[in-house]
Amino acid sequence: MKIFGKFFLKYLVVIILAFLFDLFFNKITDAVISNVIENFLFAIALICPHLIISNPRLSQFVFIIFYTLFSISICIETIYYFLFKTVFSSSAIFVFLDTNLEEAKEFLGFYFNTQIILFIAIIFVTIIITLIKLKKENFLSLGKSKWFKINILIFSITLLVFFKLSQLIIYNLPYMAARASIGYYIESKKLANYATDKYGNFNNVSRTFNIKNKEVYVIIIGESTSRSHLGIYDYCRNTTPLLHNIKNELLIYNKVISPETYTVGSLTKALTLGNYENPDAKFEGSIIQLLNQAKFKTYWVSVQQPTGKNDSQITNIGLGANNSFFLNIKNANEKTIYDEVLVDKLNKILLEDGDKKFIFLHTLGTHFNYAYRYPQKFKFFDNQIPKTKFKNQLAYNAINNYDNAVRYTDFVINNVIESVRKTKANSFVVYFSDHGEEVYDEIEFSGHFRNEDRTRNVYEIPLILWQSESYKKTKTIYPNLDSKYMIDDLFHSIADLIDVKADEVDSTRSIFSKYFKERKRIVKDTVDYDSYFK
Ligand SMILES: [Zn+2]
Repeated sequence: MKIFGKFFLKYLVVIILAFLFDLFFNKITDAVISNVIENFLFAIALICPHLIISNPRLSQFVFIIFYTLFSISICIETIYYFLFKTVFSSSAIFVFLDTNLEEAKEFLGFYFNTQIILFIAIIFVTIIITLIKLKKENFLSLGKSKWFKINILIFSITLLVFFKLSQLIIYNLPYMAARASIGYYIESKKLANYATDKYGNFNNVSRTFNIKNKEVYVIIIGESTSRSHLGIYDYCRNTTPLLHNIKNELLIYNKVISPETYTVGSLTKALTLGNYENPDAKFEGSIIQLLNQAKFKTYWVSVQQPTGKNDSQITNIGLGANNSFFLNIKNANEKTIYDEVLVDKLNKILLEDGDKKFIFLHTLGTHFNYAYRYPQKFKFFDNQIPKTKFKNQLAYNAINNYDNAVRYTDFVINNVIESVRKTKANSFVVYFSDHGEEVYDEIEFSGHFRNEDRTRNVYEIPLILWQSESYKKTKTIYPNLDSKYMIDDLFHSIADLIDVKADEVDSTRSIFSKYFKERKRIVKDTVDYDSYFK
């Protein structure tokens, strides 16, 4: 028992340090308390092997590994909670696994502050001191009787079962990380089919459009752009002067939200048959496969570059296009390129052969770090004081940089429209954002990961449609501008725009259709958006 106490004390120090950090810098919620209880029990579970292992060297080795990993994971979960006011979740792992090195560096630069660095330093020093002062004799004479060992084994198993049944396990970072990583791996494997299977299994694909004219259709996928920061959506700053000039040519949808608050979660639904009613349908067909089947020449052009080409789920969907280009695969140490390279590439594509082109442009939009998203000449709102209830320079800078990035996005969208307009083809341009962003609008925070105290800004997104004159003559769009819509059904809306029918396509799910029906909007597969944000 004495030895058990000695081990436990070492773990206890880390648990207490983390709790003190919570006490000073975080709100103590039920989640924090549950997490502390979980940490206690987990520490006990980690000590149990020492009471069974009789080889002192092995025992010491096990301690070094367990103790170090335990301390690091406590450190990570405490900082995560501090930043995002929510416990570590599987979506956090999904975001992490889909993030490249460059993004990760930006992310760290964006959120790190003195408290965090100090906390990491303290935990680090604690680990070092504990390991240096480790006494060999603690690991000796642990060989106990067989009965004792069996009892310990039964106790450990009971503890683990209790973990699972009491739901305390959701506070266990190593468990959650392992589970989510496996989940991500399985999903990615399934989605990888999209890269190789260009056509999918759609039934009775047909198209009634009878067009002699050339066809050019473009979808611009925005990134982290909240509707509330766009001038054309009545934001107090004119962040969209160019779109404003052609406002009467645009259909601007006012009540559109994203089903998730991170790229992979939202786009794997938007671009496939998957939706909250049937999340697994995201493996059953992508919009690009349908377009390929409808004999379009499809293009996917992206400036988002994840870890490795085949690692990202969205990349796999994009690779299903007849032609895919990833413009951001330069050396990771180079500064990310600006979205306007997408317009340059688009202009080249428009000159290529082909009478039926469908082009997806995946932007970096207003992704953090906002200041990196636009060139010098778009530093428009710098040195101005924005309208916000958070009166500090950090908030001012974030809002100004974000608004500059939105203004640059306006420039990119407008350029795309002008390029497409010049082709005089039968065409449309759709712009939407994968999800929104909170930028010191309602809470003192900027980003889109924070789950608790989540605000509507991380869901509310722009959806804009520009149509060419000849397109308007061939297709009637039912405006539905104020209908409640969630883009997990975007698949059906895109199919409707180009008039492609298949057994899998449902016009009641198209915001552009006269048959459109509003439905419940369940975000994160669990929360009724419209009653949550009444
Ligand atoms: Zn995103």
